[in-house]
Amino acid sequence: MSKKVKPNPEVHEYQAEMQKLLEILVHSLYTEREIFLRELVSNASDALSKVQLTTLTEENVLSKDAELEIKISFDEEKRSIVIEDSGCGMTKEELIDNLGTIANSGTLKFLQQAQAENKSAENLIGQFGVGFYSVFMVAERVELTTRSWQVDGQAWQWSSEGTGQYEVIPVDYKQRGTRVTVFLKEDAKEFCSEWKLESIIKKYSNYLPFPVKVKDKTINQVKAIWTKAKADVEADEYTEFYKQISHAPQEPLHHLHFNIDAPIQYYALLYIPESVGNEVLYARESKDIALYAQKILIQSGNTHLLPSYLRFVQGVVDSEDLPLNVSRENVQKNALIEKIKNSLTLRMLKELQFLADQNVEKYGKFWQQYGILLKEGISSDFKNKNRLMDLLRFNSTVSEDNSQEVSLKEYVGRMREDQKDIFYVTGGSREGILHNPNLEYFRKQGLEVLFLTDQIDDFMVNDLREYDGKPLKNISQGDIEGLNDDVASTESSLSKEEKSDVVAFFKKQLKDRVNDVSASKRLVDSPCSLVTPKDGMTAQMEKMMKMMDQKFQGEKRNMEINMSHPIIQNLSEILQKDKNHQFLVDSVEQLYENSLLVEGLLENPVQILSRFQKFMESASSYELEKLS
Ligand code: ADP
Ligand code: MG
Repeated sequence: MSKKVKPNPEVHEYQAEMQKLLEILVHSLYTEREIFLRELVSNASDALSKVQLTTLTEENVLSKDAELEIKISFDEEKRSIVIEDSGCGMTKEELIDNLGTIANSGTLKFLQQAQAENKSAENLIGQFGVGFYSVFMVAERVELTTRSWQVDGQAWQWSSEGTGQYEVIPVDYKQRGTRVTVFLKEDAKEFCSEWKLESIIKKYSNYLPFPVKVKDKTINQVKAIWTKAKADVEADEYTEFYKQISHAPQEPLHHLHFNIDAPIQYYALLYIPESVGNEVLYARESKDIALYAQKILIQSGNTHLLPSYLRFVQGVVDSEDLPLNVSRENVQKNALIEKIKNSLTLRMLKELQFLADQNVEKYGKFWQQYGILLKEGISSDFKNKNRLMDLLRFNSTVSEDNSQEVSLKEYVGRMREDQKDIFYVTGGSREGILHNPNLEYFRKQGLEVLFLTDQIDDFMVNDLREYDGKPLKNISQGDIEGLNDDVASTESSLSKEEKSDVVAFFKKQLKDRVNDVSASKRLVDSPCSLVTPKDGMTAQMEKMMKMMDQKFQGEKRNMEINMSHPIIQNLSEILQKDKNHQFLVDSVEQLYENSLLVEGLLENPVQILSRFQKFMESASSYELEKLS
């Protein structure tokens, strides 16, 4: 009997990044090592989805009629677990590409940071394309045998102990697919148990679309939850399914399950996560909508099914009308996809309106997380602008705290009879805005003003323009009509000439630092303020431009002076007596810089200190004089 010669194994070093990653995975303390099974089973399921699709488009596929399933077995004596799938398998090149390198370059950094911050990594692993390696939390050695669906291929065995290297050798393996054998560490032998394996699969993999079998018994549900009637799905099934697709430990904020027959048939099960990371909020990354055609997974993360501003939504869409030959590449050009997108968007917005009307508390939570994204929608989704406007919530002069609860509809309902505009002011925070002198008139008049504190607000109001026929007006802008003279300020004791002398002095001193100087109608408690000329750039916008471009030249603003304010009246008196008095110069400078400070436009706030000390010096001598 001739002994078969075993070929020499090819030994490969892991990519350097990968070695570090493995170290983190193996040496960090994971509370839930069991997730390794979730990751291996989910890879098997992905491979089955892929081959299911391939079978529809390719002529020659190895083991074309093989059952699409995942089989799990274990051997207590050998302390091993075997996970076997009839999926797409891998060629040698794919093996080395997929299991020797990190696909996503940011992954290592991310995990290192999570480790440094002592964050648990379990839920991150699956999301960052390193799921496979979590097996080394429990394995002292892993053998993976695989054969690609491509008919003339060779089967390969990959093996590694999770240290610096892995080996690849050609092997005999007749059927298509992948078999992973996990040789457990001594301290992980508890996973060699039928009960344990079953319970882990139920916990994490219950809703996979292919049968997962332990000892020939199917453990999971298999039937797609989204194709069931709503009445047949329990509340916690929705939650469990969400946890499985999102890898999130917490419940979703809300879910929406429906199906539609015309103009195109589809099922949808959509979730609004409790929260999403900044990569979704700010970096325009999308949560995943898995796209199925006739219950076959076409794309696990489709970003064309919803507009960008709804990128926090996660879930599944499955259409009987989509042709199975839509490839991943041309999905985005498919006219049916566009139809589904329009319909999904509308349903989602209607659902949000329903929440806003019926469940204020939940909508409040929603708004806190995703409000800025809906504001993005105002500028990008013209078709649904009206719906989006009704979903906006604001803080305002009427609010008692920082909460954003005022809708435009409510605002308009409270408007005074003679009020034509919806007033708003932008600023960094409610606290900052409350010190804005431009607000004084409106508060005294009892006119409600919306507080806009998000960076995006300036852009949004630009596109919003009006609601219910009422234009939005920025109270820091110069063209507010109909301000009521006698309410604005108490009677000024200054004569017409004295007033124009004050204005002239301010103009002379501030020169081209301001656009214009005038007597104010809107100030009550403050001596002066800066307002933006009509159609000029708001202070918020200017700050943003400066952040992007250091050399950006700000807009010149108008200085408005409160002629009934004691400081101004005193200055006027000094001016009448000695128009060259240094105190006048210092005061105008100080008032100007105070106004910049309030608007957040004073680049170097420390510069006001020395002048301020000079003022204190003369004030303290004055106090002393009074005492003696
Ligand atoms: P991810 O699944 O997020 O891509 P993993 O680390 O889990 O990351 O897997 C890496 C890659 O290895 C997969 O993308 C896939 O290409 C390949 N792979 C892993 N397991 C299998 C399998 N059972 N069948 C086919 N390919 C697999
Ligand atoms: Mg994976």
